[in-house]
Amino acid sequence: MIDLELTDAQQNVRSMLNWFAKTEMRPIALEADRTGVVPLPFLKKTMDLGLAGGAMGDMQAPEEGKPEKKGPKGANRIAVIGSEELAWGDAALILTFPGPGLGGPPVTYTGTPEQKERAFKVFREDRENPHWGAYALTEPGAGSDVANISTTCRKDGDHYILNGRKCYITNGARADWNVVFATLDKTQGRAAHRAFLVFKDAPGFSVGKIEDKLGLRASETAELVLEDCRVHKNDLLGGEERYTSASKEGFRTAMKTFDNTRPLVAAMAVGIARAAYEICRDWVKENYDLKRPIPRYHLIAEKLANMEREIHAARLLCWKAAWMGDLDIPNSREASVSKSYSAEVGQRVTTQAIEIMGYEGTYHHRMVEKLFRDVKVFDIFEGTGQIQRIVISRRILQGLTR
Ligand SMILES: Cc1cc2nc3c(=O)[nH]c(=O)nc-3n(C[C@H](O)[C@H](O)[C@H](O)COP(=O)(O)OP(=O)(O)OC[C@H]3O[C@@H](n4cnc5c(N)ncnc54)[C@H](O)[C@@H]3O)c2cc1C
Repeated sequence: MIDLELTDAQQNVRSMLNWFAKTEMRPIALEADRTGVVPLPFLKKTMDLGLAGGAMGDMQAPEEGKPEKKGPKGANRIAVIGSEELAWGDAALILTFPGPGLGGPPVTYTGTPEQKERAFKVFREDRENPHWGAYALTEPGAGSDVANISTTCRKDGDHYILNGRKCYITNGARADWNVVFATLDKTQGRAAHRAFLVFKDAPGFSVGKIEDKLGLRASETAELVLEDCRVHKNDLLGGEERYTSASKEGFRTAMKTFDNTRPLVAAMAVGIARAAYEICRDWVKENYDLKRPIPRYHLIAEKLANMEREIHAARLLCWKAAWMGDLDIPNSREASVSKSYSAEVGQRVTTQAIEIMGYEGTYHHRMVEKLFRDVKVFDIFEGTGQIQRIVISRRILQGLTR
């Protein structure tokens, strides 16, 4: 039975992150959006507070002969609660937090202890400078259609040679390493997919253009170029023995990441929606006397009620997906339900906030126009809204309850 009551620990995390969002993120959010620059002191604060790297996997390699450590009890639930609070502060800034980011889960799930150690030790050992990891799956021509990636890898003695281009990679340019997905043979489909740890000094690895985007403008999104990029076979995630011809391990590694991160992304969309709703609600209180019998005021009140109602529903879906994750209950369907619904609610709520506020809603300093731009991306990355619906409907039609 799902328990909606927050524990004291969860309440504390929520309050602490709300304080950080209010005092450290909101004050720099608009400037970072305008300039695309995130101040170094801010990044250092996230590291000092242990926010960097965050919920993305255990960063400690297990000791020889000992089982892997599991995350703390209720870790997924804490992560969705935290994601909502921080995104309420500013979603673009969260994506700039130093740490392994989206590259963390594939290393955690598939990496050997030695690979985890090599990938994660920089985050543990260098507390002075920000470091990032990243996840490079998308290519021109293979976004939703992940099975269709064209970046190739071929064995050459003790090395693999990678060739191709990756695009829209969050923190890809500044990352110490990227988890890069490639195919041994495109005609073999998913079974030929391989995941590699590609360090930034790998010969043949370079950064292409940095994208100029509609929203989340403070978050860096990069193109990566692999030209006869040489990586050692020890950088094949999980090691060669993990990949048998039928295992589809590389593809599974790419997809498994999403079951855990989609509820977090969904919770961020909820945080953005809540931010827009609260700004709009306070603006309405200042500007209207809703008791006056003018039909338009009634419509505004109705819109506010709908916004609040939808935000609550979206939050509960995120919590359910996270709660299932905490209990190791398969949650692909719930993760997709929460991701698609929250992104949709985020877009509806930010649109309605602008509708209610009129031209004032479009002013940069009011923040709502930024939230409107930011939330659109949540319906695109980590699987678009249409792709989530395909995941959900497949599971319904296969008679799967999860
Ligand atoms: C800000 C940002 C950050 C990102 N960060 C990363 C990252 O760190 N790492 C990474 O690997 N990728 C990243 N991405 C890429 C992101 O995951 C892709 O943009 C996304 O998967 C969609 O792929 P696409 O853009 O190629 O669109 P397409 O797949 O070309 O889709 C275009 C449209 O067609 C629809 N469509 C596609 N296929 C179907 C279908 N079968 N049925 C119905 N409709 C369909 C889609 O829903 C969409 O509306 C990022 C993107 C953005 C915008």
